[in-house]
Parts: sequence; structure tokens; C-alpha cells
Amino acid sequence: MLKKILILLLLPCVVHAQDYKSIHRKAILVDSHNDILTASLEKKVSMDNDLKGRTHSDLKRFKEGGVDVQLFSVWCDGEKQNPYAWANREMDTLYAVAERNPDKIVITKTWKQLQRAIKEKKLAAMFGVEGGHMIENDLDKLDRLYDRGTRYMTLTWNNSTPWATSALDETTKKDSLARTHKGLTDFGKQVIKRMNDLGMLVDLSHVGEQTFWDAINATTKPVLVSHSNAYSLCPIFRNLKDDQIKAVGRNGGVIHLNYYSGFIDSSFKTKETQFVWAHRRELDSLQQAGVQYEYAITMTAEKYASEVQAARPPLSMLLDHLDYIVSLVGVDHVGLGSDYDGINSMPQQLDDVTSYPLITKALLEKGYSKKDVRKILGGNFMRVLKANQK
Ligand SMILES: [Zn+2]
Repeated sequence: MLKKILILLLLPCVVHAQDYKSIHRKAILVDSHNDILTASLEKKVSMDNDLKGRTHSDLKRFKEGGVDVQLFSVWCDGEKQNPYAWANREMDTLYAVAERNPDKIVITKTWKQLQRAIKEKKLAAMFGVEGGHMIENDLDKLDRLYDRGTRYMTLTWNNSTPWATSALDETTKKDSLARTHKGLTDFGKQVIKRMNDLGMLVDLSHVGEQTFWDAINATTKPVLVSHSNAYSLCPIFRNLKDDQIKAVGRNGGVIHLNYYSGFIDSSFKTKETQFVWAHRRELDSLQQAGVQYEYAITMTAEKYASEVQAARPPLSMLLDHLDYIVSLVGVDHVGLGSDYDGINSMPQQLDDVTSYPLITKALLEKGYSKKDVRKILGGNFMRVLKANQK
């Protein structure tokens, strides 16, 4: 009898655990931002190998996490002399991976190819160019990036282009922008028009507020915000204010949440500063020995892993951003854009691309319906992508 009661008591949990896994498996999961292409070049690794412990992503772990569609970020900083060549170099990296692994990953350019890849349980890959500087002020280069599989472009990264100002510049260089321009120029509006004509999503992550408003007024298609969060919960320069979130809702677009701890938790910056201050002697000596600052930080973070772990926000805090956006505009305008391999701290439990099922589990526990969960995981993105097609 006792055994029977125990089984009955345990049953709901067991059913629930199976539920979330099967709901996750059946849903189309889209992540709109992953930097493994840049990380692969920097670390001289390839994602067809097992990179556990070295990166957040590789082909095997994408599969484990149930990722169906990945938008791979194509990026270089604004200082590079030939960003268009750099963009192509990163794309070549993914083409080589896809050629070596035709049974696992396919670069999809049409709706039909995308559907087929999902059906065949291969990772459907597309590119997202991160930063309008990569087209080098040339619409023909935009066309060629589209032809190679680019399906969104952030109008800026942290650096402005001659035709669009970034969130970083609009918040830190107010005086100099007052003398030049702020927002989109006429050429910037031509870029939007060409993107709309091609069927390339206009991505408003990283752009300044003026650029945001100019772009959302100029576009004739629903926009993407591929990796940003809510400013009201974490007031940093590149999160979206309430009126921006509402505008994306009215436009029919979608906001994909970024996993970076510093864009989720407003106390993270202070914790980070305290960490650097506490270990400043070691950091100084590493730098004096010729180690670059970023590597010195990484080495120190590895040494004091438990402190770094404690500074990570709980998973629930990421979902607070999701709830907040849903409270403003409903469940049709939110998705996931992790920024894996482009960030060095994310919420607890979300260690790498195998962790997506935990998001599904948490959403169901919060009371989101299966239908809503499917929208958040990928349905909303698919709707926006389809609306942007020619
Ligand atoms: Zn970014």
C-alpha cells in the first residue's frame, strides 16, 4: 500500500518531467544569436568537435539542447579595415562545417529548405550580420551577404556607421553626435528599404534610440531585436525601454532575450567591479607578466570559479524579463537570443546550448500554456521570418 501511495505521489512529477521534455522536443526551437563563429576563429577550434569546457556551443550540444534553427552571428569590431571580407571569412567557416557534416547541419536560404532541415532533424543554419559596418556603405555587398544566407542584420554594433548611430554612441557621445547626425540618414533608410525588399530582417539590437525610431518608422516589415532585454528591469544602454517594446509589439516584430548576466541583473556590474577589486593584485601581476587584460580576467575567473558562480543571477531573473515584455505586449513578441559564445556570464543552470530544455520547464512551471511555449521557443520568430519573405 505504502508503495502504491508513493507511486501516486511521485506520478505527477514524473509525468511533468516527461511532458516538458517532449514539449521541448516537438517545438521548433530558434536561437537568434550565437557567436560561435567568432569564438571558433579566436580559439582556433571547430564546432564539429566536442568543445565542452572550451565553448558554449558545438554541433553535438546543439542537438542535445534541441536547437532546430540557429542564427549564427557574423561579426567583427568597428576598427577592422575590411569588415566585409571578415564577414565572408566567418561565413566560410560555417560553410566548411556544413560541408563536412551534411547529416547534421544545413545552411538554409529558402522557407522550403528551412522546413526540410527541421523535418530531417538537422540544424537549420542562417546568418545574422552583427553591425551595419560590415556592408561598407555598399548596397551591393548587402545583396551578396543575403545571397550567402544572411537573414538579419543589426543596423549597428556598439560602433555607429556613417548612416546609423549605435546605442553606445547615442548614450556616451551626445555632444559630438549633436554636431554630426543622430539616427538614420537617407542612405540608412535606403538600407532598410533594400533589406525589406530582399527579405532580410531589420535587427534593432545595439542601435541607439533615435535609430530605433527612425528604423521602425521606415520599415514596412516586422522587425527583430535579436539579443536585448527590458530596460525597466535592467537599465543599461542597450536594453529596450517600455515605449520601444510597445512599438515592436505594434509593428508585429519580436524581441529575443539576451542571456548576459549584466543585461539581466542590474546588480551584476557592482558584483563584477567588486571581484576585480578583490583580485586586483593578481590581475596586475598577470598584466605585468604580459597577459592581456581580458585573458587575465578569464584566468582569474577560472581560479575563483565559486565566486564567479555566486555572482550569476538565477534563471528566474531572465524569465522576469520575458514576463515583463509579455505584460506589455503579449506572448507573440518574445523569443530567445542567448548570445552564447559572445558572453562570459549567464544565469545559473544556463551553462551552454544544452540548457534550453530548462527554459521550457521553467515556462511551463510558470503557467505558460504549451501553445505559448511553442511561440516563445520559435513560433514567433518563424512568423516574423515568413512575413519578411519576398
Ligand atoms: Zn551583440
